[in-house]
Amino acid sequence: MQHKTHIELGNELGIYIMPEEVASGMPIFKKNGFIIREELINLMRKFNKQFNYEEVWTPHAFDIKLWKISGHLAKYKEKMFIFKTKEKKYVLKPMNCPGHCLIYRSEIRSYRDLPIRISEFGTVYRNEQSGEITGLVRVRSITQDDGHIFLREDQIEEEVTNILKTAIKIYEIFDMKDYKINLSTRPEKYIGSLTLWDKATEALKLCLDKLSLKYEIKEGEGAFYGPKIDIDVKDALNRYWQLTTIQLDFNLPRRFKLFYIDEKGKQAVPVMIHRAILGSLERFIGILLEHYEGKLPLWLAPEQIRILPISEKYIEYAKDISSKLHNYRVSTDTTNATLDKKILNAWKHKVPYIIIVGNKEQNTKTITVRDRNNNQKNNITIEEFIKILNEEYKKIVL
Ligand SMILES: [Zn+2]
Repeated sequence: MQHKTHIELGNELGIYIMPEEVASGMPIFKKNGFIIREELINLMRKFNKQFNYEEVWTPHAFDIKLWKISGHLAKYKEKMFIFKTKEKKYVLKPMNCPGHCLIYRSEIRSYRDLPIRISEFGTVYRNEQSGEITGLVRVRSITQDDGHIFLREDQIEEEVTNILKTAIKIYEIFDMKDYKINLSTRPEKYIGSLTLWDKATEALKLCLDKLSLKYEIKEGEGAFYGPKIDIDVKDALNRYWQLTTIQLDFNLPRRFKLFYIDEKGKQAVPVMIHRAILGSLERFIGILLEHYEGKLPLWLAPEQIRILPISEKYIEYAKDISSKLHNYRVSTDTTNATLDKKILNAWKHKVPYIIIVGNKEQNTKTITVRDRNNNQKNNITIEEFIKILNEEYKKIVL
């Protein structure tokens, strides 16, 4: 059987649109896509909370000066959207890091305060070539589950270890059990000294070795500011996708003149880690749609339950049921279609549960529930159904 692409599924399930002539590479998320984004963000927030991340918001554009300081203007210019007003030049942020450096710099930090972990579900803009744009997996507006950690050199190992463990837990939640880990080293274009590069690379190797994780070394494929660990995860269709990235950076803190006060009361430069676990929400949603063939797990499904009254006589009772399920995303099919047609429609939209209500259900104050695998439970109480839903939700509780 031919598998549908996420582009087809995205259209059928009302996830996003991307009119070529006005929004090439810039997906517009409709209600259903927005719900999925929010659920993924909430999942990441739970993990961030465990590790005391501070969530922040930074603007979408900055004065071009910021990108001179960060070094992006020199090394990344061809991918930056630069625009001019009468007085100044601005850049649509291609990365969230410089904004987070400004936040770090806004207070005096002591060695005791580190690590400082900053998170932002920040949308960045990168001018990818038109030929490279595909559906949600390669776009120009990219929302990263971004995080920057400012820490002491002696904290690198523990921090990177925790990020790796978190990533592996996240893959388990999505039933992605196979992954390839790559350690990328210094590219041709780079900033910073060779000694710093060697130090950073060695620290990453140590973490991977201590966790007994297998990895491949990709010579020369690191970011221009530091070496990195990338994780490519295998989906249900046996394809690998790069999701997680953990990049060590000894350079940006120096460019922004970041410091902390060490034990001796002297200024010392922190190390910075850039990390994203899902990578980008856009790409991750594209992968998920294909991985699950559109049948998203209950907690992610934009429409979780659809109530089907078998005729208009039962619409009132359906409304009653709907109000008792207000903690879930429920809709009611009030069209005049036949029950069979209503069921087919719900399946087409990949709704995890359908509830059928008719005479018997109304009289006995029960419901008939059918899931996507055609398992049916006749005349159960609403409380019993809620129990089933809660059981499914529990699977993703950390
Ligand atoms: Zn960054």
